[in-house]
Amino acid sequence: MRKGLFGVLFAGLALSQSVLADTSEVAIAIHGGAGTIVKENMTPELEKAYAKKLREAAQAGYQLLKAGKPGEDAVVAAIQVLESSPLFNAGVGAVYTYNEEHELDASIMQGAKRTAGAVAGVKTIKSPIAAARLVMEQSEHVMLSGAGAEAFAQSKGLEPVNNHFFDTDQRLEALNKVKARMEQAGLDTGGQQGNEKMGTVGAVVLDANGNLVAGTSTGGMTAKRFGRIGDSPVIGAGTFADNESCAVSATGHGEFFIRYNVAADICARIHYQGVSVSRAAETVINEELKKVGGEGGVIAIDKRGNITMPFNTPGMYRASIGQDGSVKVGIYKALLPEVQKSAG
Ligand code: ASP
Repeated sequence: MRKGLFGVLFAGLALSQSVLADTSEVAIAIHGGAGTIVKENMTPELEKAYAKKLREAAQAGYQLLKAGKPGEDAVVAAIQVLESSPLFNAGVGAVYTYNEEHELDASIMQGAKRTAGAVAGVKTIKSPIAAARLVMEQSEHVMLSGAGAEAFAQSKGLEPVNNHFFDTDQRLEALNKVKARMEQAGLDTGGQQGNEKMGTVGAVVLDANGNLVAGTSTGGMTAKRFGRIGDSPVIGAGTFADNESCAVSATGHGEFFIRYNVAADICARIHYQGVSVSRAAETVINEELKKVGGEGGVIAIDKRGNITMPFNTPGMYRASIGQDGSVKVGIYKALLPEVQKSAG
């Protein structure tokens, strides 16, 4: 419900949505990946660094929403903070494929008209989420992959980078660990779980025009077979938005998220069953996925700005700023004590 005198006076006059924009209703949630994230493996310094980046990403999106900017701007801005940080598995700091390269996936969806864009398996696009948005807004397609996606992004003015731009020592170390474990187990590329395998970043927002937008960006899973595409660029699996129900961004073992159509399933439950966003997301993550061994989590927001961030792993990097301006940051099951600071 739009608030304020103008909202009441003009609601019946079918004025443009921007006239009715109400920045008091905006809200955002972001994630930086789910996995075996436990306090024992974390130093206080690292925990602080993660919390600071999560907060910074949420604030970056929130400030744009408060300024009345479209949700797409906020989603891209929040995700770009995380793509630029080596702490997260997207952009710089993306995991390695078995062949020691980076292959990145991203997608974005806008809930007003269910427009969407995605790039998959790209190696030279500095900001995959920016490329996904260009596919949504400036092409007649929804998903572009590999060299075609890269050529498209470059033709639209996005900066190309060498694949080594995404390199970090800690991800290489993780690849070597996973490879050693796989060798021991006699496994081929891809597949199995472990602390080093997971990551991904994402954002979901409700903007001042009442639009829901979701976006996701990832390096995928450590030691994945080259050419493997996860759920993150798959609309309905890793990303979904529909103004009538919710916006979702997922993180976790992509093969499960694709097969269980996770993001769209959560929104469908709201639409057809009339359940709350937290109930819908909780059921899909902690019942449907859990019983088949699909590890991961989601962030989700509904058209009233209700936010939920469930996961079935020991931890998920996450943050939100609600309609009341309250900031929540979490890594493990419980939120961090810095919760409840209000957004600046
Ligand atoms: N969902 C991503 C993928 O499967 C990875 C992750 O979120 O951890 O590519």
